[in-house]
Amino acid sequence: MTRLGSRHEAAGPIPLPVNTPQRFYRGGERIYAFRGLDLPHDFDGFRPEDWLASTTRLFAEGGDGVSLLSDHLDLPTALAQDPVGWLGEEHLRAHGAEPGILTKLLDAGERLPVHSHPDRRFAAAHLDCDHGKTEAWIVLMAEPGAVVWLGFRDDIPPDALAGLVAAQDERLLAACNRIEVAAGDAILVPAGRPHAIGEGVLVLELQEPTDLSVMLEHRRFGLEEAHAFLGLPRDLALGSVDTRALDQDGLRRLRGRWTNISGVASALPDEAARFFRAQVVSTATGPARLEAGFSVTVVVGGRGTIDTEHGPGPLLIGRGDVLLTPHRAGRVRVEGGVTVIRCMPPVGIA
Ligand SMILES: [Zn+2]
Repeated sequence: MTRLGSRHEAAGPIPLPVNTPQRFYRGGERIYAFRGLDLPHDFDGFRPEDWLASTTRLFAEGGDGVSLLSDHLDLPTALAQDPVGWLGEEHLRAHGAEPGILTKLLDAGERLPVHSHPDRRFAAAHLDCDHGKTEAWIVLMAEPGAVVWLGFRDDIPPDALAGLVAAQDERLLAACNRIEVAAGDAILVPAGRPHAIGEGVLVLELQEPTDLSVMLEHRRFGLEEAHAFLGLPRDLALGSVDTRALDQDGLRRLRGRWTNISGVASALPDEAARFFRAQVVSTATGPARLEAGFSVTVVVGGRGTIDTEHGPGPLLIGRGDVLLTPHRAGRVRVEGGVTVIRCMPPVGIA
């Protein structure tokens, strides 16, 4: 858990320190490198995710994850105390007093297990949860030849999936589409589709605000079956997996490039807007003026300033900075030779 400092009632952007709960897989060095920070002296190599402005707790592994604003105030409590100030009237009407997104930096220090996430219908029916977990990866750094996997290459009948999961061998990964990635790629990962991130990739990850994962591969990562299947019977949990083939056309529709953008545009395909928004803001050709809204801004390149209508004045920003901006800050202006990605909840009712 980390503190956001004393600006939590301010109307300007709030710099976010790292918030890296311990996880079961390796990583984290690239998060500190991207953020321009030294590794902490007690860094244990298992801090692969930086949860940014989080109101979400880990499903297992201790339940951490929520961002603290001070010793006595966490972000969910602050939101409950001033929901209009943080989120704005329109958001409240559509989504209630929660941000509706979780944003992370994720550094895969080893290949992640093949897993999938339930969709909203499954989560509501079996997990007493309003959100599923569609996610998206915006690749910030990647070692040469780095890969991710998404969707099955062929239709997999349910009994064949049960067999692959029982075997816990390399055939599960081999059944998925293998995709080479580089910095500048963006990929939408619909709920239900199996996926894995390979070693050596740092992504900015947007997702629905849950930590619900069906860990199709679990034995080599030392995960208990109860954790792997969300406490559900195995066959029921596997029923949340999208076993249809994801072909090359389908993959193309889920992919984009964010480094080609000048001005303001989405990093993600249109289909993502039901779940979250990732607005790329590049000010190389002039200042950008942005609407008010709860947002997590990640500075991905260059240096510049960010200023808000009701804030205390311009703030210098550079690559690796992460800022939480409440709706009450008003309209936002970004200028200088800087590129930021502004992560925001969906507009209206999804
Ligand atoms: Zn995932």
